[in-house]
Amino acid sequence: MEQSELMVRRIKEGTVIDHIDEGKGLQVLDALRIDGQDGSLITLAMNVPSGKSKKKDIIKVENKFLKDDDTNKIAIIASKATINIIKNYKLIEKRRVALPNEIDKIFRCTNPDCITNSTEHIESIMDVIDKDGMVLKCRYCARILDVSKIKYN
Ligand SMILES: [Zn+2]
Repeated sequence: MEQSELMVRRIKEGTVIDHIDEGKGLQVLDALRIDGQDGSLITLAMNVPSGKSKKKDIIKVENKFLKDDDTNKIAIIASKATINIIKNYKLIEKRRVALPNEIDKIFRCTNPDCITNSTEHIESIMDVIDKDGMVLKCRYCARILDVSKIKYN
C-alpha cells in the first residue's frame, strides 16, 4: 500500500482533500478559510510521493465535513483535487472538485478602481466564463482576470 493512502485513511471523522497539486496546499487552506482558529485538528502534508516521480499535497480536517459549495472554490487552485468525507474511519463520500459558475469572496479583483477594492466592504464575485481556460471575470467592473496573478481576499 502506498504511504499516502495510509495517511489518508488515518482519520476518524472529517474531510480529506487529496491530490492537491504539490505546493498548493497552503493556498487551498487559505481559500477555504481554514486556519485552525476554531480548534479543529488540521494536518497539511506537502510533497507527498504520489506515483512515479510525482508529488502532491494532502489536507486533513478533522470533525468537519466540507460542502460542495466550499470545496468547488478550490478547483481554480487545484483542479485535480478529490474530496473524501470520512465517518467512523470509513470513506462515505468521494467527489472531485468542479469549477462552479461563479466564485464568491475568495479572490480579489486586480482592478484597483474596482468597487470591491474600495472601503465599502463589498465581497468580490467572479463569473467563470471559460471553465477549461479558467477565465474569470469580475462581476462589478467586468475585468478579465488572469488566474495566476489574482490574490486572495
Ligand atoms: Zn472588479
